[in-house]
Amino acid sequence: MFVWVNLAMMTTNQIRKKFLDFFASKGHSVIESDSLVPKEDSTVLFTTAGMQQFKRQFLGRIDGYTKATTSQKCLRTDDLEEVGKTDFHHTFFEMLGNFSFGDYFKRDAIGWAWEFLTKELHIPMEKLWVSVYKDDKEAKEIWLNDIKIEACKLVELGDYSNFWPADAKEKGPNGPCGPCSEIFYDYGENEKCSNSNCNPDCDCGRFCEIWNLVFTQFNRQEGGALESLPSKNIDTGMGLERLVAVMQGKKNNFNTDVFAPILAAVEEYIEQGKYILELRDKRIIADHMRAIVFGINDGVIPSNEGRGYVMKKLIIDITDIILQAGLTQSTVHKLVPAVVEAMKEPYPELMDKANDIVGIICKVEESYIKVRQERVPEFEAQAKDIQSSEKLGDLIFTFRDTYGLTVSTIQKMLKGLHFSTEELEKAWQCFDQLMKRQQEQSRASSKMTGDVFTGMALDLDIPKTKFLGYECVKNTAKVSRLFVGNQKVEEVQQGQTVQVILDQTSFYAESGGQVGDTGSISSRQGKICIQDTQKIDAVFIHHGIVEKGILKVNDEVEVIVDEDKRLAIMRNHTATHILQAALRKVLGAHVKQQGSLVDQDRLRFDFTHHKALTKEQIRDIEDFVNDAVLSCDGVTKEVLSIEEARESGALAFFAEKYGDTVRVVSIGDYSKEFCGGTHLDSTGQIGLFKIIGESAIAQGIRRLEAKTGTRALVYVKEQEQKLEHIAKILKVPVNELVERVNMQTKRTKQLEKEVENLRFAAIKNSVETISEQAETLGETKIITHTFKDLDMGTLRKVADLLKKKVNSFVIVLGAFTQENASIFVVVSDDMIKKGIKANVLIDELAPMINGSGGGRPQMAQAGSKEMDKVGAAVQKAKNLMMEKI
Ligand SMILES: [Zn+2]
Ligand SMILES: [Zn+2]
Repeated sequence: MFVWVNLAMMTTNQIRKKFLDFFASKGHSVIESDSLVPKEDSTVLFTTAGMQQFKRQFLGRIDGYTKATTSQKCLRTDDLEEVGKTDFHHTFFEMLGNFSFGDYFKRDAIGWAWEFLTKELHIPMEKLWVSVYKDDKEAKEIWLNDIKIEACKLVELGDYSNFWPADAKEKGPNGPCGPCSEIFYDYGENEKCSNSNCNPDCDCGRFCEIWNLVFTQFNRQEGGALESLPSKNIDTGMGLERLVAVMQGKKNNFNTDVFAPILAAVEEYIEQGKYILELRDKRIIADHMRAIVFGINDGVIPSNEGRGYVMKKLIIDITDIILQAGLTQSTVHKLVPAVVEAMKEPYPELMDKANDIVGIICKVEESYIKVRQERVPEFEAQAKDIQSSEKLGDLIFTFRDTYGLTVSTIQKMLKGLHFSTEELEKAWQCFDQLMKRQQEQSRASSKMTGDVFTGMALDLDIPKTKFLGYECVKNTAKVSRLFVGNQKVEEVQQGQTVQVILDQTSFYAESGGQVGDTGSISSRQGKICIQDTQKIDAVFIHHGIVEKGILKVNDEVEVIVDEDKRLAIMRNHTATHILQAALRKVLGAHVKQQGSLVDQDRLRFDFTHHKALTKEQIRDIEDFVNDAVLSCDGVTKEVLSIEEARESGALAFFAEKYGDTVRVVSIGDYSKEFCGGTHLDSTGQIGLFKIIGESAIAQGIRRLEAKTGTRALVYVKEQEQKLEHIAKILKVPVNELVERVNMQTKRTKQLEKEVENLRFAAIKNSVETISEQAETLGETKIITHTFKDLDMGTLRKVADLLKKKVNSFVIVLGAFTQENASIFVVVSDDMIKKGIKANVLIDELAPMINGSGGGRPQMAQAGSKEMDKVGAAVQKAKNLMMEKI
């Protein structure tokens, strides 16, 4: 049995606050949680640890404070399968941490951790155990002599669990690393544990790690030698949910106060007293909801790639759980208010965004529900004809990867089919292989990794790159680092894919929506063709392929940016700023930027607005921008202190972190934004601005796409060619097109009507025959017939004619044209009394043509696109009636 010591009940909010207050009292700056989307680092998918936002300080670039504390929002996707299974895995969680950048070290870190747990939270000393790294004599001495922990409660652990990064000593990577010391809570002896020496290394569940203190004191050299770091750092992490579970006397994190409102909402909106979910599923929903709400709140829009894909997958996974439980309506979004309720105290911004979040989730779940409705029957139909496991594996892959059905949905469908267990096993193996191949491909094409530090950033002494690209597109520079893969090398040669770091560069690195520059870097001995430029912090990384010769570290090189392409990018970037001003002018000040992409071909701008834009609005926006272009307004760029910039009224977007100074880009008297991008000097250089698309990407978020300069001109020319093509077909000059098309349309309508009349006249003649040939049961006629090339309107008229011929009848008529299939049913009053109803009959027939229908007992109709199924449906109706009457 686990035994808990009764601790004073503290809420999650109280515990979080207590932690931050405690470290503030020890001289730490309390820093706000960074966004889940790390703004300065495009190589990382999500924020996964507290120290991530302190990478600069960690690498020795101190501005301001040397001690910090945070409660950091984190999102991890690597343990997705474990969520709900264990007591403590989450996708979204909060990490409490205290950090020292060359300030205090082990003695204070350990002392304060102990003080916080035992004096502030009053956890009894005897419930706490600790671990130290086996070779860390210093930490061991502090625990035993300073803290005076009982020797039996201190364990020494090895390279895997008590060194950061794990096993770094043996296997690398090179760079900062160090031993850890962990603090464990003892839930009490576990009867099921057979280990006579049960300690924190035992996995019976008795011990739970609550705090990890990392002492970053070494710089690992090539070959594994550990060199002492001149400036030592402290990085600690304590999972808030875990700590709260301990403090509230719970074993499972989901039983704590922060999950209670969310689980209550799951019961209220999903279970509703009739749909029963498994406990694990409820916990998965509660976990994923927090990840979804915070992810969208921090600007991630569900999509098919990168971060957006993670959001979409989480929403779909829980939609699937809900549908499998038997619900048919979209429900996930109804849980949002409960998450907001649980988390609004530390994150009040959730309250403003709640409606947008609801809308975005709703859209994803509704479209998934639709996908399921369409694809599930399709999958079953196709799977029925499959004989080989390989083919089935292919099919599963297509429906999983292309159409987005979840694995559990597919598993469920397969259960009802003819496959044996072995066949299914083999099919899933094929599927796994296809998935793996696909993941490898997408990994290769993605620059994102899950690591906090890429191999490169672990190299401590890379100097910042000086950026010259605001003034020039060419410069000379010195090669400071070369990498092949993530390995540092001294020399690169023809054919290799390489990363180059220079002391200074004119290449713009991707950020703020503007793509990285391309071009070349060449020395006397060789040339590298640069295909992309990225940056980590202030280090610019040029990605490219060695076109010829060799290049070495310390080479003098000539750096040349592809100037035409850069100019095209700048046209689009400056135009994006004017577009933003235009949107606020035309649509209103509620327009907020949600994201943008600027490359050489086009610009894309996402913003908050609740309705589709009208043609007039789009025209007004385009006019605003082109007026600005025509007046050749100056574009000024200045670096201001953050206070000056805010006072100037410049627009700043996202919860971005800015340094002490910011760059402000102003255009005319209508645009002023914080922006690090490269811009034109005059709006006149844009040449021409043309909007080419307007769409919704989520509820409340619209997307505009536009082109500028020569690209806009090309677009206009293409449109012109299309007009000329149409004019040629119609054999009129372009300026007479409208008149001609109007006339043609009128003429077509008239002809259609004539054809319809002729056809009806012909049918009229055959009505007599149809009526005579119909089955007769006593007084009642069962009239069924299927017509070719007839629409619903004419079908009604035919039915009216037939009705007049008899008193007691059931008439079922089918018809199809090139585009539509229709069924029309009329029943006489005496038959209704006998229980034959048109609307009941149509409910049976509509599914046969995969359509929908409805009506009254006297008359009902159904329509669909399945023209070839009408005949069979009408025949079926006849048989049904014969049986019934
Ligand atoms: Zn044990
Ligand atoms: Zn900008």
